[in-house]
Amino acid sequence: MNGNMNKHLIEKGFQQVLEGIGFENLDAETREEVISNTPSRMAKAWIEWLDGMNHTESFVDELLSKSFPETSIGILSYKDIEFHSFCEHHLAPMRGKINVAILPALDEEGRGIATHGLSKVPRVIKVYSQRLSLQERLARQIADALFNYIDPKPEGVYVVLHHVNHDCMTSRGAKAHADGTCQAEARGVFLDPSRRNEAYQMWSL
Ligand SMILES: [Zn+2]
Repeated sequence: MNGNMNKHLIEKGFQQVLEGIGFENLDAETREEVISNTPSRMAKAWIEWLDGMNHTESFVDELLSKSFPETSIGILSYKDIEFHSFCEHHLAPMRGKINVAILPALDEEGRGIATHGLSKVPRVIKVYSQRLSLQERLARQIADALFNYIDPKPEGVYVVLHHVNHDCMTSRGAKAHADGTCQAEARGVFLDPSRRNEAYQMWSL
């Protein structure tokens, strides 16, 4: 077991998938190698790809609750953080980039009072993206986590997933080759369109 995951069960499942596929075009020796070893390789890989499923909300809360006293009055922004995830409908890769804007908590005179560690946001993105998910939920979970768990609570958070490519859409079914889809979630002050524009200005630098 790795966290909540049962490697043996995953392996058994992949074995059946491979048997179902059949591999009639392979010679007996190669087929034997694939049937005997691929399921355990697949289970190992999938456990790694879905590692975010082993992390609870309290893990993310703890990650974001440490802050450093610092006065800054501006928006902190991140641009084009890459993510890799898997859609829960087909277990097909879903990948893209994420922009994040955070306006930290302000004191009564409007000065920022604290900052979280810069590396924490990419780590949070990793926790939520290394799961079976959907782009809507991924955007919502990242925005909610940053807004609710950064301590002291930020004035606002804006998360934009962009250039998201879904293999289940591009390589089968609709076979739609677009430049990717987008998904945005705003919290706090970023519900105001003029604050969102500030974020877009920073991202266009
Ligand atoms: Zn899908």
